[in-house]
Formats: sequence, structure tokens, C-alpha cells
Amino acid sequence: MAIQFFCPSCGQPIEIDDVWGGKLVSCPFCRNTVSAPTTSTLESVTPVVTARPTGTPVAATNPATEPASFSVPLNPPAPHPRRHQDAGTNKPAIVGLIMSLCWIASFILMEILSGPELTKALGENPATEEVRAYFNQLATSGDLPRWVIVMFLLLVVGTLFWILGVVFTIIGVTKPGRRYVTIFSGLILVLFPLFVCGGI
Ligand SMILES: [Zn+2]
Repeated sequence: MAIQFFCPSCGQPIEIDDVWGGKLVSCPFCRNTVSAPTTSTLESVTPVVTARPTGTPVAATNPATEPASFSVPLNPPAPHPRRHQDAGTNKPAIVGLIMSLCWIASFILMEILSGPELTKALGENPATEEVRAYFNQLATSGDLPRWVIVMFLLLVVGTLFWILGVVFTIIGVTKPGRRYVTIFSGLILVLFPLFVCGGI
């Protein structure tokens, strides 16, 4: 089925195959790129557009049988330039991923820092309860070792990274492009805490 309409640029009646409805097409008369409607808008003047040489069987769906002057050569729809550009510049998605990785890095740093100290104080593989009691004891003694203070700072910074990671990932999801980056950040931000909580 063909869609028939007046060119919005020059006013000439033109028609296109219905697969091009709603897309950008090139008008054969004025050569301007115009937006085709999704349905015909000139039923009332259909004879003007669909006139055929006498004797040609009615085969409106076959463009080959239509007079050349009414067969509209179409350019393939141009890719949407803005969308294309955005696909490469979803900066929030990248920032979200960097924040997620910084968060993991600060957590790993905490583990590296606390591991040997806890082993020194409590022996190999101390139980969660023992670790908690040890930290309580340190806190109540009022004399915190430097590594505990650094760990606390890392915890604060890490939490900040996590919050920023979540915020930027959510902003990134609302923008086109780099969907895989936002999915990856989202997985890090959601699954890693579960993994950590499960491990503790
Ligand atoms: Zn035109």
C-alpha cells in the first residue's frame, strides 16, 4: 500500500511505499527532505496521483507498474544525527562506572590495610564477632591506631563513591547510548555489597 500526500515543502502530490511512513523521504519535485505521514492525506485527489496508462491492470501495490513520474525515489532514512552523537557521549554512564570502580578500590584498600592488623591482633581468620569486639574495644579505649582512622576515612570516601556511582548510573540510564556501561555499573553497585555482606 502506498501513502499519498502533498509535499509539505513544494505542495506537489507524491506517494511512497507505506514502509516509509513517518520517515524522512526525498521529494522528487523539490529535492527537499520531508517527513512522510504515516497514512495517506490525499484520498480525495487519489486519481491525480495514481493515474496509470490505459490497459494497465490495477496493481496499486506494485510500484513497478506505476508511472515513473509518480514513483518517488527514496533516500534511505538518514540516521538521526543527534542520537548517533549521544551514543558516544553518555558521560554520566562513564562517570558512574569510574565511581563504582573507585568504590571497589577503596574497599579492597580497606581489606589490604585491615587484614594484616587483624591477623596480628586476633590470629588467622578471626570470626566476625571477634573482629566486632576488637573494634568496639579500640573505640572505647579512645586511643585509635592510625590504620583504624585511615580505614574509617576509606569507609567514608568509599560510601561517597558508592552514592555518586548510583546517582551517575541512574542519570546514565536515562541517556541514550552506552547502555552496557550503565548495566555493568549497576551490577557492581548492587551485587558487590551483597557479596561483601555475604562474606562478612
Ligand atoms: Zn517537494
